[in-house]
Amino acid sequence: MKKIEMVDLKGQYERIQEQVNKSVLNTIESTKFVNGPQVKIFQEHLEDYLNVKHVIPCANGTDALQIALMGLGLKPGDEVITADFTFAATVEVISLLGLTPILVDIEPKTFNIDVSAIKKVISPKTKAIIPVHLFGQVADMDEIMALAEKNNLHVVEDNAQSIGANFTFSDGNKKKTGTLGHIGTTSFFPSKNLGAYGDGGAIFTDDDELAHTIRGMVNHGMYIRYQHDVVGVNSRLDSVQAAILDIKLSYLDFYNESRKAAALKYNQRLNDHPNLITPFRKGDCDSHVYHQYTVRVVDGDRDGLVKYLNENNIPCGVYYPIPLHLQKPYTSNQYRSEYFKVTLEVVDQVISLPMHTELADDQIDFITDHIKKFLE
Ligand SMILES: *Cc1c(COP(=O)(O)O)cnc(C)c1O
Repeated sequence: MKKIEMVDLKGQYERIQEQVNKSVLNTIESTKFVNGPQVKIFQEHLEDYLNVKHVIPCANGTDALQIALMGLGLKPGDEVITADFTFAATVEVISLLGLTPILVDIEPKTFNIDVSAIKKVISPKTKAIIPVHLFGQVADMDEIMALAEKNNLHVVEDNAQSIGANFTFSDGNKKKTGTLGHIGTTSFFPSKNLGAYGDGGAIFTDDDELAHTIRGMVNHGMYIRYQHDVVGVNSRLDSVQAAILDIKLSYLDFYNESRKAAALKYNQRLNDHPNLITPFRKGDCDSHVYHQYTVRVVDGDRDGLVKYLNENNIPCGVYYPIPLHLQKPYTSNQYRSEYFKVTLEVVDQVISLPMHTELADDQIDFITDHIKKFLE
């Protein structure tokens, strides 16, 4: 059996090595390191793949979120609602811009933002909602979009973990995650479903005016050369990363199918265990691309299991061990623990198992046999 990795980037690279090496070398030889033709080509391919009018590449997924909020013209004091259970980048950018993050609880089955909790905290100051499509699964976008429309709010989708997933609206309309709200963002961090060989990110929107605003913002607020109309940032996807991403984009559906197949195998081996809750998929098989395969250990020793797996050379992760409302910069005396019942429960139960595009059956057997042995 091959050594088990949490994410097997080496194995994935080896399958496309020749193609990638050639393209990287060509890009270097072109010496168009920044804003080379590769960036535009990748941007257009991603626009086609997502069926969205505008993709604006940038330096990473955190920048993408920050720039999306800047593009919406939010002002200090405006409130932005997001989930208590996500990677800190989502809330970090809200605070960085002087906006007020309002954290809310999640649904126990999907780990995604709880729409009934959003309803309770909408105030006259609320300007935006950031649903995070966590672990590869789309949030409840029918309800979130309806709520946003009723209250005149912007919806920024944090799609860092779910690129390639689909959502079917109640009217039957099917769209890619990241293109369901007013603006979407993603990350090309190497371990993400569409990962570069370094950092990268992108912003998506169908809104022409917003896209124009943002294109200037990522380039120092310049719309005309050396004329700075707004305060911007410097956030670029470099040409070498774009060349690699363009190749990997052509494999994205295949990669996501591999993840789904691995998830199915995990499910078959773990579904009926009394101490485990395997991932719940709310929609059809296109609605979850398993960025993580995260199970809940109930009435069991999650931390003991982590230790046991590591001792047996099985990597695993706890995403995320501490709710954001308990993290120093993001806490507030207005929060009460009863607002975060689900998050507070799951942070002590979740364990994410190895999940990537190269997982073999014997590896999944080895992992699940050890889990069952520990929980016996
Ligand atoms: C990875 C991630 C980000 C940040 O992306 P970077 O490219 O690392 O800046 C933001 N939100 C979520 C949910 C993520 O998983």
